[in-house]
Order: sequence, then C-alpha cells, then structure tokens
Amino acid sequence: MPQLAYVNGQILPLASASLHVEDRGTQFGDAVYEVCAVLNGQILDWQPHRVRLRRNLAELGITLDIADGPLGLQARRLIARNGHQDCLLYLQVSRGTARRDHVFPADAPANLVMTVRRFDFAQRVRQLATGIKVITQGDNRWGRVDIKTTGLLPNVLAKQAARAAGAFEAWMVADDIVREGSSTNAWIIKDGRIITHPTGTHILPGIARDSLIRLAREAQMLVEERAFTLTEARAADEAFLTSTTAPILPVVAIDGQAVAGGTPGPVTHRLAELVWNEVARQTGWRA
Ligand code: PMP
Repeated sequence: MPQLAYVNGQILPLASASLHVEDRGTQFGDAVYEVCAVLNGQILDWQPHRVRLRRNLAELGITLDIADGPLGLQARRLIARNGHQDCLLYLQVSRGTARRDHVFPADAPANLVMTVRRFDFAQRVRQLATGIKVITQGDNRWGRVDIKTTGLLPNVLAKQAARAAGAFEAWMVADDIVREGSSTNAWIIKDGRIITHPTGTHILPGIARDSLIRLAREAQMLVEERAFTLTEARAADEAFLTSTTAPILPVVAIDGQAVAGGTPGPVTHRLAELVWNEVARQTGWRA
C-alpha cells in the first residue's frame, strides 16, 4: 500500500506531497505541530492533543480554518487509508505561504499537513526491562518552549549528541535544574515522591506527562511538580522519561553514571503498568 499524506484538504501519495518553497514553516520555523500515538487504529489522547494545538495556534496568532470535528475526521481518514494499525500521526500547521518577509502575511491561509508512519510500540514495552541512558546538555532554547513549534534545532542537536554518546535522550539543564529532554519530559523519584518540572515557559507541557500525573494521583501516589537539580537526579531512587513516542521509559544512567544501581525500579514499573493499562483502556492495544 503506498504511503499517503494529507496536504491542505487533499490526500496524496507521500512521495509527491509537498508544500511551496516559501512556506513560512520552512523559512522561519513559523509553524506548530503535534505528534499523536495511534494504536489499533485509535488515536490516543486526541482531545488533549487538539486542545494543545489550538492553544499553540492562538499563542502565535495563526488561524486554522478547519474546526476540531473535521480535523479529527481528516486525521482518522488518513490513518485508515494508510492502513497501519500502530503508527504516529504527525500534524503540522504553518502560518502559510507568502513572499519572504518577517512580518505576518495579510491574507495567506495556514498550511495544514498530516503524515502517518508505522511505529513499534511493543519495543517501548520491551525497553521497560532494561531502561535507557541519558546525557545532559545545556538548555540553549528560546524562552517559549511551552509552544510546540517546528523550530527544533537545539532539540535536534541535543538528541544527536545523545545518540553520538550511545544514549537515548539528552536532558536539558539550566542553572543545574533539569528541565526536560530534547523530545521527552524528565522525572525522578525520591522517597516515594514522583517529581517533574512544573509547566510554565521552560518545558513543553507533555500530554504523556499530564496523563501520568493524573494516573499516579488516581492511584494515590504522590506527585510533585517542582524543579529538581541535576545533583538530585544523580542521587534519585529512580528516574524516567515520558512522551507520546515513549509513554514511559526508565532512565538507568545519567552522563554515564548509574541511577538507582543501573536497573529500572519498582515505582517506575508500577507507573508503567498504569500507563499501558490506560493505553489498553483507550485503544484496546496490548503488547
Ligand atoms: N518535551 C519536548 C521538548 C518534546 O518535544 C516532547 C514531545 N513532543 C515532549 C516533551 C513530550 O510531549 P508529549 O508527551 O506531548 O509527547
């Protein structure tokens, strides 16, 4: 089956789907995006993703002329036509196509593109047994990383540094505070308390982060949304990360130094049960 993409109302073969060279997303990173997990053909947490997308569009003053209902329908249509049961839905909205000028164009409609690619979620379940390693990098991003824009160059460089060091993720640190990963939220566990950086302008408010906080609290576990230092992280009982593409993964080393003896811990395992049960509840998917 050929891969298909959605571009401004049309579904086309991915190989021939394109945007104009003067798309503002390309020229200025003047675009926002979402990545949603699709399991058993069902979009996980669609509602919070579309709420976050609308908030980001509003923050940047980008007008998207398609309502939430039709947007969801188009996304589902693309998923169905691609035929993958387990995949990632990528959705991007740029301010539009216009002659290059920093000033917003007066009358360019936003460009909406969506793509779908197959994804192996079972791999993430298998990784629970071993955990992953992170390195640290200085956080040199702009001051509004809570807006999910396609301007991801610092994140790209940080992730590449992680891969070059044989690690899965780079944690971005500023003034000794661990903010988040290059594409994931960062967590530690100390004395039974589950700790993650508060929302605000220094982190992206992850959908997986939000979901985990809710699930943990429903299970009477203690969650603290507060800044934690790299020193605390190194001395933590456990550490882990969350994102749409890695719903929960134990962190077993930071900058080559073992966390919690270098093996995934019991609280992270309990949280992983909650997270994957929620996936099953919403989509019926099981590893
Ligand atoms: N932080 C950053 C910088 C990210 O890019 C992402 C992934 N989009 C996340 C956190 C996790 O967000 P989510 O749980 O919504 O995937």
